Amino acid sequence: MSWSIPLAQRVISLKPSPTLAVDAKAKALKAQGADIINLSAGEPDFDTPDHIKEAAIKAIKDGFTKYTPVAGIVELRQAIINKLKRDYNTKYALDEVVVSTGGKQGLYNCLQAIVDPGHEVIIPVPYWVSYPAMVELAGGQPVFLSSRPDENFDIDLDELASKITSKTRALILNSPSNPTGAVYSRQTLEAIAKLAVEKGFYIITDDIYDEIRFDGNGPENPVSVFPEARDHVIIANGVSKTYSMTGWRIGYLAGPQPVIKAATKIQSQSTSNPNSIAQKAAQEALAGPQDCVKEMVSAFKKRRDFIVKRLNEIKGIKCNTPQGAFYVFPDVSSYFGTSCEGFEIKGSLELADYLLEEAKVACVPGIAFGDDRFIRFSYATDESQIGEGLNRLEAALSKLS
Ligand code: PMP
Ligand code: GLU
Repeated sequence: MSWSIPLAQRVISLKPSPTLAVDAKAKALKAQGADIINLSAGEPDFDTPDHIKEAAIKAIKDGFTKYTPVAGIVELRQAIINKLKRDYNTKYALDEVVVSTGGKQGLYNCLQAIVDPGHEVIIPVPYWVSYPAMVELAGGQPVFLSSRPDENFDIDLDELASKITSKTRALILNSPSNPTGAVYSRQTLEAIAKLAVEKGFYIITDDIYDEIRFDGNGPENPVSVFPEARDHVIIANGVSKTYSMTGWRIGYLAGPQPVIKAATKIQSQSTSNPNSIAQKAAQEALAGPQDCVKEMVSAFKKRRDFIVKRLNEIKGIKCNTPQGAFYVFPDVSSYFGTSCEGFEIKGSLELADYLLEEAKVACVPGIAFGDDRFIRFSYATDESQIGEGLNRLEAALSKLS
């Protein structure tokens, strides 16, 4: 459609979220009756636990259906504070926590609050799809930092130091990572925390997968390994992944009071408080029984073991064993330059298209995360679907030459 009244510059170069786009395409094909195995979505397949749903039902019945404070109800912020004390042994005050409409909005508000045009934000590659776009929407410049797939996608600290300039405002860390599932070591977290204090920048830690770890450790953060960095760390988290609550849209930020106050001010002029009923549910999620988390994590671990083993059995695929989240990010670059019946596999985009068309398996091309050598499969789906998906994948790949 031609449209004569121009749109804002900031939206012209903005691309829609590729993860949400692939997921929507897979769901639409499925709705039309196609036999699609959807390994694209970063969304746990489990139902939200009953005790959490009950809290929401009670909230509705009690008439808890009005505006709340913009930053969220005190009881939920208190539950967040208790979690952070428990996990990171770090104390936050009520005005150092703001609840948002999903973790995504928390991250967006945070970047709007600290980034001015001309500022640089360092983002390790591969990155979650929305970080560069959010930095750009704030007028900032993403600065990409390579990571080392052979060393579990660890950060090269020398390279990081070389990227820090007077314009560096923040570094975004996501551990466990989407898309790699990698978990940074305590040494890496500590070294980064020290660098942030020395050079004066923020570390935004996207901890959305903090509880989904398979290494036996609990959540870790620069503030827990180097408490002196507290005023440099802005924690972004939420209940979407840990409690299978993606549709409820509750996330939060915790960090230095001026940043949280600024993020709250932005929220007061954009979306106001997050949904009152979902806040009550999130309070129950964080403060109530945690057995459901253990059960989900152990199911994810079983699936991880299965999918990594199976992927590495397939010719031409190399897959690391992720320590957290629910994604695998195998190297599929050995298929680049091959073709089959009109499909030319130039990179991850064509490979993902080919797999959807030929195998009816939906996955996300690595290029969306900044590294074209890989593709991402989510294993937040049941084992029989994963098994069937990988059989189809193997058959489709074997036709490429
Ligand atoms: N960070 C990462 C790395 C994610 O994968 C997601 C999932 N969408 C989010 C943040 C935001 O999650 P939500 O907005 O659903 O809380
Ligand atoms: N975070 C999920 C993913 O990476 C959901 C989609 C999104 O929010 O981008 O698939």
